[in-house]
Amino acid sequence: CGIVGYIGHRQALDVVLDGLRRMEYRGYDSAGVAVLDGAGSLTVERKAGRLANLEAQLEATGRDSFTGTAGMGHTRWATHGPPVDRNSHPHRDLTGRLAVVHNGIIENFAALRAELEADGVELTSDTDTETAAHLIARAYAEGDTAGDLPASVRAVCRRLEGAFTLVVTHADEPDTIVAARRSSPLVVGVGEGETFVSSDVAAFIEHTREAVELGQDQLVVATRDGYEVTDFHGEPAQAKPFTVSWDL
Ligand code: GLU
Repeated sequence: CGIVGYIGHRQALDVVLDGLRRMEYRGYDSAGVAVLDGAGSLTVERKAGRLANLEAQLEATGRDSFTGTAGMGHTRWATHGPPVDRNSHPHRDLTGRLAVVHNGIIENFAALRAELEADGVELTSDTDTETAAHLIARAYAEGDTAGDLPASVRAVCRRLEGAFTLVVTHADEPDTIVAARRSSPLVVGVGEGETFVSSDVAAFIEHTREAVELGQDQLVVATRDGYEVTDFHGEPAQAKPFTVSWDL
């Protein structure tokens, strides 16, 4: 339902939680965050219920374990599987080093799920989203997209049917956040030494008003210094820059 990704110089956890709070008006049933610490570790927390539940859980775990300047968060409006902790986003691959948040519905998820299960992957949630996490991890691990996160996400996006905004992070790629969209909104917020990706400009207008709206079937690689947009085949693509002018 609400998505925010951040890569910059501030503590990602604070920026992401703020962003999620600003999107609360949309309604949701669960929430979660992932933080990349740059030293190669990815930490995830997710919780059914209000953001306050997630924040209480973060306090209990100790916020120190969520130190890092890249991360993402999600507020979920369940479509596949009840609103319980294990269905909350982010969803991870089997190594726990890749995390995905998703808005929308992956229509062909049953076929993808069957394919993964035939491959020996044991899924841990009821969501359509988790299939994307495992497929992207597999593309990143082997074949001609191996070691190339944007190419792995593009390859999987070409196979997905339905509507999606996806944000993907990998512990081996602490300097990039990858996001992609089809029939579901995705905007980039361009700051100074920091870049945001979100389903809604409300998540970042506190930090920057320079935004870019991604077109249909586009993918963005966000870094601290900027962003690059391609289509799902890796060809450079034109996204629409605009300035957020309204007051909140
Ligand atoms: N289909 C996904 C799920 O049920 C994402 C729902 C959403 O847009 O929040 O987990």
